[in-house]
Amino acid sequence: MTLPPGSTIGILGGGQLGRMMALAAARIGYRCHIFDPHGAPCAAEVSAHFTRAEFDDEAALERFGASCDVVTYEFENLPVEPLRLLGDRLKPGLKSLAVAQDRGDEKSFLESAGARVTPWRAVASLDDVQAAIAELGLPIVLKTRRYGYDGKGQAWIREAGDAEGAWNAIGREPAVAEAGVNFEAEFSVVIARAEDGQTRAFPLTCNHHEGGILRTSTVPAGPAIEAMAGGAIAAARAIGDALGHIGVLTVEFFATADGPLVNEIAPRVHNSGHWTIEGAHTSQFEQHLRAILGLPLGDASLVASEAVMENLIGSEIYRWEEILAEPGADLHLYNKGEARPGRKMGHVTRLS
Ligand code: AMP
Repeated sequence: MTLPPGSTIGILGGGQLGRMMALAAARIGYRCHIFDPHGAPCAAEVSAHFTRAEFDDEAALERFGASCDVVTYEFENLPVEPLRLLGDRLKPGLKSLAVAQDRGDEKSFLESAGARVTPWRAVASLDDVQAAIAELGLPIVLKTRRYGYDGKGQAWIREAGDAEGAWNAIGREPAVAEAGVNFEAEFSVVIARAEDGQTRAFPLTCNHHEGGILRTSTVPAGPAIEAMAGGAIAAARAIGDALGHIGVLTVEFFATADGPLVNEIAPRVHNSGHWTIEGAHTSQFEQHLRAILGLPLGDASLVASEAVMENLIGSEIYRWEEILAEPGADLHLYNKGEARPGRKMGHVTRLS
């Protein structure tokens, strides 16, 4: 079904991804309604409507759903059960959301969809961690099954004596233990999948992280990564098909000497796709909207020779004046308030 311009798109979550989605929606004539428990989420100030309520407030969700023609989400840590009342209006559906919420379920699902992942074990006690070390060797990284992002909820074990400290550092929570990968590079594939199963992939993006947080994304990703494009895009499509996903889906990979390994997936637009706003014919935000609205998918190709996106993290935001003065630099500020260390406050894209 096609939802024509003038329709209302509900977005669960009011962060910068919702903000950029709402800006993309306005450009093609749609209005957005943000649902978020915070007082002044940065997506709400660029949207027509805002509901402030907890994500499990079923009465508020019911009213919100009734006021929207389609509902989507901009982050995955949402309670699944209350969202059932949105029915088919929720795109992507609950399966995409549920799988991406739990790193253990995600890895089992990825394996069942035929994707290669890092060797891993589920752990729920210090004994399990010791067993994982015996089976996987060192180093390994513990990642809490739920609520981790940007390197939070993660601790490395490099020597056997680090095990207890790492287990305590992640709060003794159910986790996955993953073998440390000696990767050559990291990259992501952002694809959009329409209701009829058609997909479009953006060019592979090379991602550089520091302290678990994305620093830069570069396209083209370079020959070593591009040589893996066929396998990586096929894996992303297989994952999208297995989820019955509608919308943008991001798959993050490690490029290793034996080919691509999936690190994690996000059932949504992604930081590593921000370069597409200026750098692709259709941005990831518009592409997501096109997929959930039943519109034709857009041209995902790069419009320049190269695009480099740099995140502005914490106090780096205060470089805004210098960036505005730089020819060819496109600045995005999210107006999120306090510039706490590690917080993504904006980004800048440079095309050449
Ligand atoms: P994640 O939250 O899983 O994306 O992890 C954040 C970052 O930590 C990744 O982008 C990598 O740079 C690094 N990392 C995570 N897992 C591993 C691993 N198994 N081996 C090596 N580096 C990793």
